[in-house]
Amino acid sequence: VLSNSLAAADIATTLHPNTNLRQHERTGPLVIDRGEGIRVYDERGKEYIEGLAGLWSVAVGFSEPRLAEAAYKQMLKLPYYHTFSSKSHEPSIRLAEKLVEMTPPNINRVFCTSSGSEANDTIVKMVWYMNNALGRPNKKKFLSRIKGYHGITIASGSLTGLPVNHRDFDLPAIPVHHLTCPHFYRFGAEGEDEAAFTARLLAELETVISTEGADTIAAFIGEPLMAAGGVLPPPAGYWEGVERICRANDILIVSDEVICGFGRLGKSFGCQKYGFTPDIMTLSKQITSSYMPFAAVMFSDAIYQAIADNSEKIGVFGHGFTASGHPVASAVALENLAIIEERDLIGSAARLEAQFQAGLQAFAHHPLVGEARGAGLIGAVELVSNKATRKPFEKIGRAGAIASAIGHEEGLIFRAIGDQLALCPPLIVTSDDITEIMARMGRTLDRLPAAVAA
Ligand code: PLP
Repeated sequence: VLSNSLAAADIATTLHPNTNLRQHERTGPLVIDRGEGIRVYDERGKEYIEGLAGLWSVAVGFSEPRLAEAAYKQMLKLPYYHTFSSKSHEPSIRLAEKLVEMTPPNINRVFCTSSGSEANDTIVKMVWYMNNALGRPNKKKFLSRIKGYHGITIASGSLTGLPVNHRDFDLPAIPVHHLTCPHFYRFGAEGEDEAAFTARLLAELETVISTEGADTIAAFIGEPLMAAGGVLPPPAGYWEGVERICRANDILIVSDEVICGFGRLGKSFGCQKYGFTPDIMTLSKQITSSYMPFAAVMFSDAIYQAIADNSEKIGVFGHGFTASGHPVASAVALENLAIIEERDLIGSAARLEAQFQAGLQAFAHHPLVGEARGAGLIGAVELVSNKATRKPFEKIGRAGAIASAIGHEEGLIFRAIGDQLALCPPLIVTSDDITEIMARMGRTLDRLPAAVAA
């Protein structure tokens, strides 16, 4: 790392999220300089296909001038205003209308934040506030899943079901029960088929509810398809069963659509792909293509009415952010959603799903690939040391890190989640782009066995 380089300045100053910092100090960061369509270029001008759309989020690609113009125009007119104490402004109002129009009919209220974590924290507080208002203060517990990802703040990090986000932080810090991860390949029992696996997970859900008491459980939160946990599509019948059991026990269903929302699975929202109707949805990432930080909690009118009643009778909902409904972020979100609609990017994801998933399945024959999986335009291959026994590598993450480095050489950025290699390209990908992504992934995997053995 050259002493006067950007990389050296980065090493000297910055604590990177989710990074082995000693390793980072030795090798330095990959400094990305500019973007164009589905591609980004580093400071030396090397080209990469961004196979993860940044962090699963840049739907419209890395060079959309309409979003830059929307931000600039809004900054000139009203760069900032807040939404506290009954203040409002047009971009936030228009965006709220648009989101209500897009989401399922029972979802018709919006609360805005700047990140998915803040949105999920908001949901916890909203549900608690509502249950207090309804005179059932003990109904506070959340049900979540092992390997679910819902953020990293104290409450959202508690909902997350990954050890790395709990260990060393004394989490969970709120009452939450993590159910078995609905990933058949890893969590299915010896001799169990997928239908029996689903039945076992649903029986577990019923047992937990009866043991803990439905009157103590506020909500079930889940990603329609778990993404950050390793891209884990649910088994058939899972969500229908969860919905039936939650309804029977007066437990709210929260669909965390931060990654699945806005077309990733070929439908507007992930809950539509799997056929369930949530009471609350968390939206972020593709909502602005991450050009601006933004997230929204969407919820039913019944929840709104309980909160509104209480805000007059007992006290305001004491929650909100300086940037809640930020006008520039809202204007960018509106323009971004218009582009997604005009270019039919959701329809495009549905049309390209078969090609994308077949491309991944072709890697299932690779000697180090235990499982290839996904839905819509998101997928992963899971690397294992023994294909027949599904045995993971001794040191989890080593093969994944090696694959990432080879991927960079081949001009493909994907995400190594341990030894699971995740792809989630911008929604603007074409059929030819997918062919090229799979070719680069194929060359990466071809080189991998020798590199892992070395
Ligand atoms: N929920 C899901 C499903 C996510 O994937 C993420 C982030 O990846 C979050 C919540 C947290 O969002 P943020 O990183 O914006 O706080």
